[in-house]
Amino acid sequence: MRWSKTLIPTLKEVPADAEVISHKLLVRAGYIRQISRGIYDYFPLALKVIRKIETIVRQEMDRAGAQELLLPISSPAELWQESGRWEYYGKELLRFKDRHERDFCLGPTHEELITDLVRRSVRSYRELPINLYQVQTKFRDEVRPRFGLMRGREFIMKDAYSFHTTVEDCRREYDNMYQAYKRIFTRCGLSFRPVEADTGAIGGSLSHEFQVLAESGEDAIVSCDQCEYAANVEKAEVKGKPPAARDISEELPKLEKVATPGKKTVPEVAEFLKLGANKFIKTLVYKTDSGDLIAALVRGDHEINELKLRTMLGCREVTLADEAAVTAATGVVTGYIGPIGLSLRVVADLSVHGMRGAVTGANEANTHYVDIDQERDFTPSAFADLRLAVAGDPCPRCESGKLQSHRGIEVGQVFYLGTKYSEKMGATYLDAEGREQPIEMGCYGIGISRMVAAAVEQNNDANGIIWPLAIAPFQVLVLPINYKEDKLRDAGEKLYRDLQRAGVEVLLDDRDERAGVKFKDADLVGIPLRVTIGAKGLDKGFFELRSRRDGKTEEVPVGEAVKVITEKIAQAVQG
Ligand code: ATP
Ligand code: MG
Repeated sequence: MRWSKTLIPTLKEVPADAEVISHKLLVRAGYIRQISRGIYDYFPLALKVIRKIETIVRQEMDRAGAQELLLPISSPAELWQESGRWEYYGKELLRFKDRHERDFCLGPTHEELITDLVRRSVRSYRELPINLYQVQTKFRDEVRPRFGLMRGREFIMKDAYSFHTTVEDCRREYDNMYQAYKRIFTRCGLSFRPVEADTGAIGGSLSHEFQVLAESGEDAIVSCDQCEYAANVEKAEVKGKPPAARDISEELPKLEKVATPGKKTVPEVAEFLKLGANKFIKTLVYKTDSGDLIAALVRGDHEINELKLRTMLGCREVTLADEAAVTAATGVVTGYIGPIGLSLRVVADLSVHGMRGAVTGANEANTHYVDIDQERDFTPSAFADLRLAVAGDPCPRCESGKLQSHRGIEVGQVFYLGTKYSEKMGATYLDAEGREQPIEMGCYGIGISRMVAAAVEQNNDANGIIWPLAIAPFQVLVLPINYKEDKLRDAGEKLYRDLQRAGVEVLLDDRDERAGVKFKDADLVGIPLRVTIGAKGLDKGFFELRSRRDGKTEEVPVGEAVKVITEKIAQAVQG
């Protein structure tokens, strides 16, 4: 394509709302524009990148034995009512009514629609297993759409759903998809890590996310420095240690109350009493979805993992109770709550077990207890792993490893669902004996548009984007530095034609612009290889070939340019 005929509206200014580099660069380089919060136009260059990613995704899905289909974006409420998610999904599900006042929604994911399709079209065990996928626009009315394509409200997803007669066969397909995902992200040139994950609104009991490692990632991940263990921090287990053996001859200091006027938070009281945060027992009061208040205890230097708390309590949601509710239920001002004599149900993290010489609120304004001995002074109704894992924690899987922490962008997730949807929606098959059985299911998503942003987060420099070759909008940019000069223009046009004939994806900068402007735009837009055609080189019979990634240039004889370039591309694609 010709630059002069392509809509690449580059900008000098960074958009004011753009916080992360991919958002800034994709807008500045003329790839995307926001039309409403979390809703973007994809300009021609962005669409090219998306199509490249989609092609790789389709190739690997087909190779793994899946079949492509296309489901509608809108779906009737009835299907969601059957699965129970019409209510469960909350405000993220964009709902609307048709002219007959019937309820509909825009699909945020398609378990309901595909389960319905399969129950209507698959009868016998002979028709299973089957894996069906689509590439489609999804809509989720996210609370905080942000970071450009990373968290949009409308975004492109590849979603696949597999159906099986047995758990084993479903697990086999889960592994098959896991391997396909590894190939997809590798081929797209991303540095990523599969991690154990929670199943969220999709449900099921086993799940992995594929996380692109990047500082700007919204997800916290931990991984072991010795073994393969890696998990989203939401899911990461913390190995509990039994409390140290107690020396009975040891005289323990008595429980005491101390005045801590106006000091409420752990850092404030720690500073006031000159004690480390790890000596504190932090008491957090949560409200469950049934309206109960529960006190959860963690060590002062730890944080509660709300997902673990929720799972332990068997409820769908926990939210920190507001001050008024806490005071109304306990008679204590927040900041001074503690487990000793508290009139609420108390659950505690494993690390609180056996704490001694600890500090916590005394359930009295401006007062804390010191020298607490947990085993002597209070007994929670349960101990469980309730905290967030942190760097330095021992690995929950191996003997000697320690956890390291990273940030990640979730670009894909695989789920083993079991019969969660098939039982609710009556998706069954007849087994060899003619008995009706619920179908086993798995589902597998990839955020195609989020991958565009993730790729830019990992591949950029001060001057702009550096596309991995496999997903670049063009492989080569041909840049005659003065398009008005016949000699340069002719050489550029010829190389452009020759490269096209050789099957290379090439953009010709045929604009009548200053060389400086063209170079700046070239770096910003990020095409991996650039051929610069200048008068001096041309007189000597050379083009200059430059790699966008490392800035290295080499002189290539005019007659060999096509060969050198095609070889480089072949090498990079293989490598
Ligand atoms: P997140 O935790 O980031 O909200 P999710 O776990 O809810 O995502 P899934 O239901 O697993 O998302 O969807 C499959 C994939 O779709 C995700 O791995 C992600 O790459 C992509 N995706 C999800 N939500 C968005 C969004 N708001 N914008 C862009 N891509 C998204
Ligand atoms: Mg997910």
